[in-house]
Amino acid sequence: MYVHKKSEALQKQAEDVILGGVNSPSRSYKAVGNGAPIVMDRGEGAYFYDVDGNRYIDYLAAYGPIITGHAHPRIHEAITEQSSKGILYGTPTELEIEFGQKMQAAIPSLERIRFVNSGTEAVMTTIRVARAYTSRNKIIKFEGCYHGHSDLVLVAAGSGPSQLGTPDSAGVPKGVAEDVVTVPFNNLEDFRTAMAHFGDEIAAVLVEPIVGNFGIVEPMDGFLEEINAVAHENGSLVIYDEVITAFRFTYGAAQKLLNIEPDLTALGKIIGGGTPIGAYGGRKDIMESVAPLGPAYQAGTMAGNPLSMAAGLACMEVLGKPGVYENLDHLGKMLEDGLLELIQKYEVRATINRLVGALTIYFTDETVSNYTMAEASDGEMFSRFFNGLIKRGINIAPSKYEAWFLTTEHTEDDIKETLAIVEEVFKNDL
Ligand code: PMP
Repeated sequence: MYVHKKSEALQKQAEDVILGGVNSPSRSYKAVGNGAPIVMDRGEGAYFYDVDGNRYIDYLAAYGPIITGHAHPRIHEAITEQSSKGILYGTPTELEIEFGQKMQAAIPSLERIRFVNSGTEAVMTTIRVARAYTSRNKIIKFEGCYHGHSDLVLVAAGSGPSQLGTPDSAGVPKGVAEDVVTVPFNNLEDFRTAMAHFGDEIAAVLVEPIVGNFGIVEPMDGFLEEINAVAHENGSLVIYDEVITAFRFTYGAAQKLLNIEPDLTALGKIIGGGTPIGAYGGRKDIMESVAPLGPAYQAGTMAGNPLSMAAGLACMEVLGKPGVYENLDHLGKMLEDGLLELIQKYEVRATINRLVGALTIYFTDETVSNYTMAEASDGEMFSRFFNGLIKRGINIAPSKYEAWFLTTEHTEDDIKETLAIVEEVFKNDL
């Protein structure tokens, strides 16, 4: 069993300097018993090594971006090469044009694109653009979907589909919450009710086309088609938040997999190959609302920086090779099948949602298709599962709402080792 002495000592130091000891709250172990988060020393392919010298098979993949594994040689080379030519120019570069063209070819709905520095920025800006284009203020979003930490998307649901939201974070003004309606994912009836009530005030309907933020949850048949149809009937735009989903399941966005297009798309995570990035884009006439062509303002000193562009291009090169997603799917299926076998063998109350190389184990009997169902899964059991894994060498996100992400560097042997460890945890810790 692993000991984490140095991690624990470092976390004590961290708490005296970094607020809460972490630079993002999801990194704390608050939801899984409040232990000290493991301090990692280095990553290599599918593995992490912590400051105590323990090795982990990593399924966190930094919450999604590290799809080519840690320290991928091609990405390392691209960053090193670019850093010798300068890392930030504040001028146009050929790299950003080339990368923009790559994105456009893979995601044809991006008639125009802008690079920014995070998913938060990308989503926040798509909402501004939609508001500018429609001259409306309100948005509809879906319960349990996370869209970054800008004010407008940190608004919780009201008591019903015709109710406005309430702030979900201190510091979000009540007035902001009055511009947001939140309805359950996969519930067309509530969506239609909300649109019937607020339709002519809705600038945009914002949705993760495949949810990644209360585990992996696919839209039911016709859900996204109806969103498009009803939104457009009402003069509202449709925004897909593909920060997690783009290049996660296929070379391109979820919109390709699902054969449907939004008006605007927000991107982030994988497209930067692990460097800070975000992007947004969509229909040309809508994007032309943005400065310098239009009246909606968006800017960025670090936007389209050469390091992120070079890393992103290298990542696309790796992901564009034949067989990449087939292999992720193969390993994902092997992991899912193995987990299901263990769930049956040890009579664990759990179900799995999986798509290609991403999966979530929910400790519940029911198939999860919306946030309420994910919320109802057993958090105490997840906590015991998580802690059992981390002390035996498997690193997953410390939250029952997150997914396991496979990378191009995981192997069948890694999956076998993982399943053997899960069996130990099921036997001894649940
Ligand atoms: N949208 C989605 C769907 C996300 O999952 C996230 C981050 N988990 C964001 C937006 C925000 O991205 P970032 O953390 O890069 O600001």
